[in-house]
Amino acid sequence: MALLDDFRAGDRRALSRIITHVENRHDGYRHLLAQLSRLERRAFRIGITGPPGAGKSTLVDALALRLAKQGLSIGIIAVDPSSPFTGGALLGDRVRMQHLAGQDKIFIRSMASRGQSGGMAAATRDVITVLDAFGMDMVIVETVGIGQIELDIIEAADTVVVILVPESGDMIQTMKAGLMEIADIFCVNKMDRPGGDRLLSYLNNMIHERLAADAVEFPAVGTNAVSGEGVDKLAEAIARHRAHVTANGDFERRRRRQLKTEILSTVRDRIVKDLDRMIDLDGQFEKIAARLNAGETDPYSAADQIYEHYFRGRPVNG
Ligand code: GDP
Repeated sequence: MALLDDFRAGDRRALSRIITHVENRHDGYRHLLAQLSRLERRAFRIGITGPPGAGKSTLVDALALRLAKQGLSIGIIAVDPSSPFTGGALLGDRVRMQHLAGQDKIFIRSMASRGQSGGMAAATRDVITVLDAFGMDMVIVETVGIGQIELDIIEAADTVVVILVPESGDMIQTMKAGLMEIADIFCVNKMDRPGGDRLLSYLNNMIHERLAADAVEFPAVGTNAVSGEGVDKLAEAIARHRAHVTANGDFERRRRRQLKTEILSTVRDRIVKDLDRMIDLDGQFEKIAARLNAGETDPYSAADQIYEHYFRGRPVNG
C-alpha cells in the first residue's frame, strides 16, 4: 500500500490521511491499526486536562515548542468531546496552526465528538497508536474539561498534568478527590493573575498531606503560558515524573492496564454488535418482549436471562 510506504518514510500528509481513515473508522481501519501497532512503540504520552479557558492550548504549544527545540518530535492531539467540529474547522485551531506553522517536529490534530462520544476514548487511543508508529518521541493529548469522557481519554497517558487557574478555586473543592487521583502533576497557569501563589500553596499542602510515607513528591508548578514563564519548570517536572515511573515500574504497569482496556474495549464492541444481531435473528428478543408486555418479567431479569442464554448456554424461559 503506497500510503503506508509514504507514512513509513515520514510523510506528514500520509500521516494525516491515515489518522482520518482511523478516526472515521473507514473500511479496513482495524487491519491498518494492527499493522501499525506492530511497529515499535516508544512515544511517551503526556495527558493535559483542565477547565475550558485555563490556557491548555497556549501551554501545550509553548511546551511542544520547547521540547521540539531539544530535538524531540511531538504529536499533539487536541480533543474536545463536546464539540461537533473537527479537523481544523475551529477558529482557535487555525490560529494555533499558524502559531506552530513551519515546525516540522510538531504535528497537531484536533478531534471532536461528531456524536460518537462513547467512542471518543477509543478513537483517541487509536490516533495515539498512529502517531507513535509514525515515530513521534512524545504524544501530548489535550482534553477540555474534567468529566468522565476526559478521564477515559486521559487514562492512556503516562504522565497526567492537570491545569488549573487562580479562578478555579471553587472547582477544586468539588472535584478534589477525582483530581487527586488522576493528576501526576498540578500546574497553576495564569500566575500573572491574583491568587496564583495562594492556589499553588493550597495545592502543595494538599499534595504533601496525601503523600504516602515512601512516595516521591511532585510539587505543583506555576506557569504563565503567554510569557512562557515556568514552562521549563513544567517540562522538568514531566521529565522527572517520567524518570520516576520508569524506575519504579509504574510506567509498565500503567501501559499494561491500558493495553487491557484497549483489548477489552475492542472485544466488547464486537460482542455487543454480535449480540445485537443475534437477539433479533434468533427471535429471542421477540419472546422476551412478549413476556415483558404480559408483565411476566422485567427488564433486569430479562437482561440476566439473555446473559445466561448466550454466555452460559441456558434456555430462555417461556
Ligand atoms: P484552553 O481553553 O484551556 O485551551 O485555553 P487557551 O489556551 O485557549 O487560553 C484561553 C485564554 O487565556 C487565551 O486568551 C490565552 O491567551 C489566555 N492565557 C493563556 N495562558 C495565560 C496566562 O498564563 N496568563 C494570562 N493572563 N492569560 C493566559
